[in-house]
Amino acid sequence: MTGFPLPAPMARALSLAAEAAAAGEVPVGAVVTHGDEIVGEARNSMRGTLDPTAHAEIVAIRHAATRLGQSRLDGCTLWVTLEPCAMCTAAIGLARIAKLVFAADDPKGGAVVSGPRLYGLPTCHHRPEVLGGIGETAAAAQLRDFFAARIVPGVLIRIGNSLFQFVRDGAGHGVGSGISIGTVGLLRGADA
Ligand code: ZN
Repeated sequence: MTGFPLPAPMARALSLAAEAAAAGEVPVGAVVTHGDEIVGEARNSMRGTLDPTAHAEIVAIRHAATRLGQSRLDGCTLWVTLEPCAMCTAAIGLARIAKLVFAADDPKGGAVVSGPRLYGLPTCHHRPEVLGGIGETAAAAQLRDFFAARIVPGVLIRIGNSLFQFVRDGAGHGVGSGISIGTVGLLRGADA
């Protein structure tokens, strides 16, 4: 990502993800823009709100709908630091979001370019324009650091196209080391 400044909404989403990590939530942040204006934003808050559906995208969509006074977010773009899961992928379609921009792929739980690829199914009635990989390096680093502190030693985790193995150092801290890049499909992340 040299030479290409990060779009401001993605930079904001990354900073929301950092707030999530600081609060002990999996670091994911999301921003909804209408034109150049941010009309909704949120970070993961499932643990803090005791709401398993409080993914960053869902909460950001709710904020944007309230702000705009309408249930459909026509013409809006959703920026998120991690490829959306099945719930959020469906919600983005229901909200009629025009464009989805995400940072890191999520081969474990994603549903846009990974897993079920929901927008490709005939039962999908609204497919946003999709752009992935924007801010991927920073988002992957956030996730790697977050899970490194919590993951079971020796487990492999794939973030984007990198495969990491986590071990404990002498002080008991999680240390991630990239060991391979390629087509290995193994992904064993601890759900923190
Ligand atoms: Zn989700």
